[in-house]
Amino acid sequence: MLVLGGGPAALCMASELNQRGVAVQGLAPKPVDAPWPNTYGIWAEELKTLQLEHLLAHRWSDTVSYFGAGGSSEQDQLTLHGMEYGLFDRAAFQEYCLKRAEGVTWLEGKAERVESGSDVTTVFCGSGTTLQARLVIDASGASSPYILRPDHGPVAGQAAYGVVGRFSENPIEAGRFVLMDYRCNHLTASQRTEPPTFLYAMDLGGGVFFLEETSLAHAPGLSYDVLKQRLHQRLDHRDVRVTEIVHEEFCLFPMNLPLPDRDQPVLAFGGAASMVHPASGYMVGALLRRGPGLAKVLAKALVEQPALGSAALARRGWNELWPTELVLRHQLYQFGLGRLMGFNEALLRRHFATFFSLPQHEWFGFLTNTLPLSRLMVVMLRLFTLSPWSLRRGLVFGAPTDQSPHLEKAG
Ligand SMILES: Cc1cc2nc3c(=O)[nH]c(=O)nc-3n(C[C@H](O)[C@H](O)[C@H](O)COP(=O)(O)OP(=O)(O)OC[C@H]3O[C@@H](n4cnc5c(N)ncnc54)[C@H](O)[C@@H]3O)c2cc1C
Repeated sequence: MLVLGGGPAALCMASELNQRGVAVQGLAPKPVDAPWPNTYGIWAEELKTLQLEHLLAHRWSDTVSYFGAGGSSEQDQLTLHGMEYGLFDRAAFQEYCLKRAEGVTWLEGKAERVESGSDVTTVFCGSGTTLQARLVIDASGASSPYILRPDHGPVAGQAAYGVVGRFSENPIEAGRFVLMDYRCNHLTASQRTEPPTFLYAMDLGGGVFFLEETSLAHAPGLSYDVLKQRLHQRLDHRDVRVTEIVHEEFCLFPMNLPLPDRDQPVLAFGGAASMVHPASGYMVGALLRRGPGLAKVLAKALVEQPALGSAALARRGWNELWPTELVLRHQLYQFGLGRLMGFNEALLRRHFATFFSLPQHEWFGFLTNTLPLSRLMVVMLRLFTLSPWSLRRGLVFGAPTDQSPHLEKAG
């Protein structure tokens, strides 16, 4: 098999197949041990279940969000999550996958064209090299041109501008992780009618903090200029200055990419397979949870029916990756995201305050996509009944246009 890509999805899939005795080649433009550019966060509980907690570089038990507008009674607006959050040690995560992938042949290059017959798939590389495999698994990210998917109109992107750095004073409480700070009292009245953004922030220790101004989802994705300006405006309001920039993060990825056609002879995994959670933007936990099952099905098919070609193998892969249950859950999440994209900041704050008042195992299961469909529907129903009328209207009919000046742009 041939895996395209050198990110978390490719390494995860190549290693899982390798662990099951499948002969795997990997193709990525950079050396496969080149450092990954993104910072990856995850609820620690997800890694605990997978016995991979040792892959965390940072871990916080003081995890909070702010869903009030801001102002004097800050403590009253604090939502305590009561659940540990962590940041991956990217190098350790990569090394863990590469170790489990010992035996995989890694090639440096970029796929430029992919041609599938029913038996084998041919990948033409930029260098002129041609590779053939019984099955190609495209893990080259969400913008892969080799994976066919329906066009449902504009795709909403999660966009963020972040700074790892030092500040004139602590920008958040020492030792704390802030999932979402939606306080908006630093914004002008007109800014408050624009697409809402929130602060994602953490204390990395040693006087270094990571702050990221984030737009949950908007089509088109918010510009880095707007996000950067908003981050500085937020800091100015708190009389905090950036004194040293250690690293800047520019983040943009699709949140509601349509699911791929599941009858194509090339399989995908990760961003290319639309595995990003449409309501939260998280994916790494899903890779680690769903990778082993997919690899198992493919390895079994190869052993039991050695003559299976690309089309038949891909079909088995797609059925395992996107069974009806997961497709339906995905559709529910996409529906929910569509509603949220129509909410103005006041409605969004009310929504998230209500959402995080759900029992912890329910909001956690929702955010990690680990609830079976029937439970997910119960949770969504409970969220609805807990919501005030203004929110219920928005959840059912979408927000009224005077509340959502950016609605017509949302995909
Ligand atoms: C800045 C940022 C922060 C994020 N933070 C989180 C987070 O905290 N938690 C979380 O769960 N998710 C997060 N995500 C979402 C998601 O987990 C990431 O986008 C993740 O990197 C996607 O993994 P991937 O392996 O599918 O794709 P990518 O990481 O995009 O990797 C694609 C790989 O394919 C290679 N490639 C590209 N084209 C070709 C080609 N033609 N041939 C061969 N190889 C090719 C690339 O070089 C790269 O190695 C974040 C995303 C971004 C952008």
